[in-house]
Formats: sequence, C-alpha cells, structure tokens
Amino acid sequence: MLFSDLPLANPLQRAVRAVGYEQPTPIQEKSIPSLLEGRDLLGIAQTGTGKTAAFALPILQRLLDSGKFRAPKTCRALVLLPTRELAIQVEECFKQYAQFTAISTACIFGGVNDASQKRNLVRGVDVLVATPGRLLDLIGQKAVSLKALEFFVLDEADRMLDMGFIHDIRKVVALLPQNRQNLFFSATMPDDITKLAATILRPDPVRVEVAPQSTPIERIRQELYRIDKRRKGALLKELLLAHPEMKKVLVFCRTKHGADKITRVLEKAGVKCAAIHGNKSQNRRQEALGNFKCEQIRVLVATDIAARGIDVDDVSHVFNYDLPDVAETFVHRIGRTARAGKDGIAISFCSPDEEQDLRAIEKLTRIRIPEGDQAIYEKLPPPQKETAESEMRNARGRMNRSEAQARAEKSREKRRPEKQSRPEKARGLMPERNERRFENTRGQRPEQKLRPENVRNEAREQHPSEQPGAVRPENGAPRHRHRRNRPGSRARRRMRENGGAV
Ligand code: AMP
Repeated sequence: MLFSDLPLANPLQRAVRAVGYEQPTPIQEKSIPSLLEGRDLLGIAQTGTGKTAAFALPILQRLLDSGKFRAPKTCRALVLLPTRELAIQVEECFKQYAQFTAISTACIFGGVNDASQKRNLVRGVDVLVATPGRLLDLIGQKAVSLKALEFFVLDEADRMLDMGFIHDIRKVVALLPQNRQNLFFSATMPDDITKLAATILRPDPVRVEVAPQSTPIERIRQELYRIDKRRKGALLKELLLAHPEMKKVLVFCRTKHGADKITRVLEKAGVKCAAIHGNKSQNRRQEALGNFKCEQIRVLVATDIAARGIDVDDVSHVFNYDLPDVAETFVHRIGRTARAGKDGIAISFCSPDEEQDLRAIEKLTRIRIPEGDQAIYEKLPPPQKETAESEMRNARGRMNRSEAQARAEKSREKRRPEKQSRPEKARGLMPERNERRFENTRGQRPEQKLRPENVRNEAREQHPSEQPGAVRPENGAPRHRHRRNRPGSRARRRMRENGGAV
C-alpha cells in the first residue's frame, strides 16, 4: 500500500511526500482507514512505529472535512502526553503534516512561563498538544476550555500511569464533551491500563497492535567493561579519548545527579557534552537535544525518563554507564543505535553490585556480552577502597534509604569491629565515659545521678527503680519523662491540689 492509496486530502498528501514517507507503516496502514470512518482506536504500539502519523493524519483529515471553525480559547483536538519532549515532538509532527493547510496547532507543558502559551490559546487552536499538569492549570485559569473538543488522543498511557498522572487524566476526561472520537495508545496493556481505556473509549473500538520496529539486537556490536563504580567516569573518559570515531554518543545513567557528574568529568577532559534530565529547564533540554542532533556536542548524557521518546538518528554509540534495573529498558536503550541499517555499538559498564542486572539482561537478550578491550584498564587510576559513606551513597541510588543505611551501617561495623558503632557513641552510651562523667558529679554515686529522665534508651533500663523487685516511685510509674511528673515537682504538687488536673 502507498500513501497515495489512502483517502487523504491533497494538502496532506503533499505534506507526507514533503517529509519523505512513501509507504505507510503497519500501524498507519491498520489505523488510518478506521480512524477516517470516525471509530475509536486502542493502539498497542511504541514510539518508533510511526504511530504519530497514524493518529495525526486522520485527525487532520477529519478536521478539514468537518467544516467547523475553532472558537476562542478552545481546541478541537487534544493530544495528551506525559513529557514535555514528547509533546514538543508530536506538535512538530502535526505542524509538518498540516503545513499546507490552515490548521493551527499549539503545545503546552509545564516547567516554563505560561504567558506565551496562554497567548497562543486566546484565538483558539485546532490541535492542542499538552502535558496533563499544565493543561489543568490553564483550564483552571480559564485560558482554555475543552467544551468544543472533537478528538481526544491519550498517548503513552502506560508511561502516564507510571509517572503518576492517573488523577490528572481522570480530571481531564471528566471535562470532555460526550460526543468525541477517542484514540488511546499504550506500549503495554496491563490491567490498570485496560480499565482506564474502558473509561475513555466508546464500546467496540478498533484494536491495533504492532510490535516495535526495534533494531535487531544481533546487529548491535556489544562490549562489556567490568568496573567499580568510582572509576566509571574515568573509563568513559578514556574510551572517548581513545576512540575519536565515537561521534554521536548517548550515555544512559541512573540518576540526575549522576548525569551531571558525568558531564563535569567529560567537560574537564575537553569532551563536548550535555545532560538532559528532569531537573534541567525545558529550554536547556531542548538546547542540549538540538546540539546533539546537529553534532555540536559529541555526548548526550540522559536518564531513562528524560530520554524516553526522544528520536535521534545516527547515534553511533550507546553507553550504559549504569545498567538498568529492568532488562527491557536495556533493549530500548541500545536500540537507539544501529537504526535504519546503520552500524551501532553498545558499551555497558558493570560494577560488582550490578552483576545481577547483567545476568537478567543476558537472559532476556539471550546474548552473552563479550568483554571489551582489557588494555584500557591500564590507563585508569587504581581502584580505591570504598568508604562506608560512599558505599551508602552508591547504594542509595538502587535501594530505599533505610536499606542503604542498614547496608552502610553493616559495612562500618565490619571495618571497625573493636570500636563501638557511631550511633551508640553519639547517644553517650559508652559505659566507661558515663562512669567518668559520674565521677565528677559532686561525689554522688552513679546510681543516684543516673536518673531515668537524664539517660535515654538502653541506659534507662539500668535505673534502680526498674531493677527486678525494686520499689517504684509513687504510683509505680517507672519513668518520668516530663518534669511535671517527677515526684516533688511544682507541677505535680499543683496537680495533686487540683485533684488530678495539671
Ligand atoms: P513515531 O513512532 O511516530 O515517533 O515515528 C518514528 C519515526 O518514523 C519518525 O521519525 C517519523 O518521521 C518516521 N515515520 C513515520 N511514519 C513513516 C513512514 N510512513 N515512512 C517513513 N518514516 C516514517
């Protein structure tokens, strides 16, 4: 099938030719005819399958056909997406496909000033591409209304739920008019997504499922470097310096802080690079992405969330600076290279605590990743012994805080078996110290001075009144945490006088 076989108006056919599409992709072939008939659609597909054109072209066609006009502060089609990058990308596609029509588009997302976004909505738009938070914000400010909506697209639904947008989505759906065409896309269909789809789509939607157009993993040359966490930066730097053919390099790491740290190491070594992650402003992210696309910078360091859906051609090398917890993420990451018949190399760093992740990845891909050039290790500084603190810092990226603390605590104990652990010290519970302290207390014996309100936790257990068989003061209360409860205190006397009330 060719695009020219699809019942699309001339301006759209021209635009498709202008962007260089000849044949529709499988999802386009399956979806466009049904969407042109006005049916709802449930699409199980990922970015990279051509799904944007699959929903954008029929929506544009139907907007052209309807003969209606946009009213001020309204939109006729709404596309909801989880991230700013995806929203910008999808609006760009709509703009390209609508370039020979009078259809207007706008894009709204958080993290930037809303003034220009509100201005763009004053006269109304045909297609609004939005992230949920900013959309609700602008609806609240009465900058836009959804009352005239004709088409609703919920894209990347599984990611939306992962990112905690479910309540925002429900709020948006509650504001939509009943009479509308719905398109729902998700890469996976777990139960919660199926339920959400049922609340949005009309009964009996067209169901289209396509496998991602992923790069055959066998075509990617892979290398593995076993390296401790602290020397990963040095290894990356050495590899980049030793291989000038690494021209367009995407580095995946686990945390935002990690991404910034990598860019600092590389910048110091004179490697042009930038990081994209959730803490970067939208402008900085777009700038970094633009510079990477046109090869102004050699390395783009990204966290998985920030890199999702970003479409960059000709990535020569993908680095897994940290291995992902989820093996499927590894496949998505390395699939950024070796696209469109080109060569690609994926290089993974594996620290001792990532061995389990590596095994899961090798099991999923059924590929044993070969070790890289061992000579590179000679150029690296010798491994340093990890301190308990650095271990905790490293561990914290992979486990929750209390687990990481417990682990660090354990390793501290191991290193200082003869000494007492820090928390005990901090609480002043070292017995010999307490003894010494009591020696200086006007000749009083430690037991006399060791009042329960003065000594906390374990030491409190030693209070004479709490020894087995000891007579407890007054009403038998063993501890007097508050002054007012101490026998003979003014507050206690007053309480007795008032008949119990303090
Ligand atoms: P998407 O899944 O919509 O993000 O599209 C992934 C990439 O495929 C984008 O770069 C599109 O421009 C491209 N694309 C979409 N449809 C076609 C097509 N029919 N022929 C060639 N490329 C396409």
